[in-house]
Amino acid sequence: MNSPQTIYALSSGALPAAIAIVRISGPLAKKALQLLGATNLTPRKLILTKLKPSKQEIIDMALVCFFSKEESITGEDLAELHLHGSLAVVDEVFLFLSSITGLRPAEPGEFTKRSLLNGKMGLIEVEGLADLIASETKEQRIQSLRLLKGELSKKYLKWGKELIRIRAEMEALLDFSDEGDVSQKANNNNLIKKMPNLINKIEKDLAKGAAGTRLRNGLKIALIGPPNVGKSSLINVLLKEERAIVSAHAGTTRDIIEARLDLEGAPVTVYDTAGIRIARNKIEKEGVKRSKSTAENADIILYIRSALDDPKEKALDLSKYKPSKIIHVYNKTDLLENKGQLKKEGFGVSCKTKQGIDIFLEFLCKEVRRLTSLSDMAIGPNRIRHMNHLKETKDSLELALIESKKGKMDVSADFIRSANVSLGRIVGTVDIEDVLDEIFLGFCIGK
Ligand code: GDP
Repeated sequence: MNSPQTIYALSSGALPAAIAIVRISGPLAKKALQLLGATNLTPRKLILTKLKPSKQEIIDMALVCFFSKEESITGEDLAELHLHGSLAVVDEVFLFLSSITGLRPAEPGEFTKRSLLNGKMGLIEVEGLADLIASETKEQRIQSLRLLKGELSKKYLKWGKELIRIRAEMEALLDFSDEGDVSQKANNNNLIKKMPNLINKIEKDLAKGAAGTRLRNGLKIALIGPPNVGKSSLINVLLKEERAIVSAHAGTTRDIIEARLDLEGAPVTVYDTAGIRIARNKIEKEGVKRSKSTAENADIILYIRSALDDPKEKALDLSKYKPSKIIHVYNKTDLLENKGQLKKEGFGVSCKTKQGIDIFLEFLCKEVRRLTSLSDMAIGPNRIRHMNHLKETKDSLELALIESKKGKMDVSADFIRSANVSLGRIVGTVDIEDVLDEIFLGFCIGK
């Protein structure tokens, strides 16, 4: 294999800043440091160094650190320059590094990619790292850190070993199948018992995956209801009472996003689907269609109505939405003369006086926790990719179980092998090349 090129990039944020961290990874990392004038290096120690290439002016006074390939995160010799964070300093360092033969600027995510390919990080850990950097709320941070620490990988690698053991036992049975004695039957039964146990564990993880994916992508709350009942007012109340997320990312759908909130540590996007009404023309029809699909895809629907009976108000058709995800809210309770008029099946609130808002918010937060909270449970998957392969693993295991019950151990062993391949795809021990591009698409330069 060709020796890899040495790469460099700015790994810290936008300039100017107090400090700029430039990373250099590859076989020439040490040489690059020496050419920059950093000759007095102790591995894994930050050393204050005058960066002055020979026959050149001083570039900066910087803290320099060197990691040998055995101890670095990329699995290659790695250097870090903690520079003064000015454009001029970083430009000059880059100019110098680019003049060294064998060095080139890093591509997006290339440091992490090398770490993965050199076995310093697993695939799920890399995904965890990407999630951690993108995390906006506490629960997202906790989930991604657990992935980064390898909790999920360890679990699936353990399951993988279990599959290998089951298959080995099956093959051993096949080898002695001529003997057809009582103990063989007992072994068969033993194997048949092990499979449902694993299938059960996978099912639990698939159920957890829904919550994990929701937490990673954020929860969607759709507001529906007739005009003038106080939908915008409720959004304003939510924004005041809870923490608003200021996100650099625009909404991924074309719906109008009214608010991004941090509810109980989970990211929540509130959509105002004011468009659900009888459409009078083509453009309105499109708006109604989009609003309806937003409500259908939402994790929670807040159906807002006025607490005052309005004979003109038409009830919306809710038949398309799961009843369990609809929360009924009656606003403007301050206008009720008689509290006995309050509807029983929902929450009576007043956006004006804040009456009932506490109780409603408490319930909403409980729902959000129920739909996303993972921190007190064993970690589960959090991407569609994980879920798809996990489902394949389960399907293969179920087929293996059917075949083994028929006594067809050779066919069953084949299905066990397929199950292990699917599991290996999640942790990246199988077909890792297929997912590399997709995984690193979201990484930026310097990571
Ligand atoms: P939307 O069309 O459903 O978004 O409704 P808005 O939030 O724009 O509110 C419609 C009107 O109702 C505005 O004049 C609000 O000031 C008023 N409003 C909203 N909430 C309350 C409330 O709790 N009590 C009273 N009395 N008026 C409210």
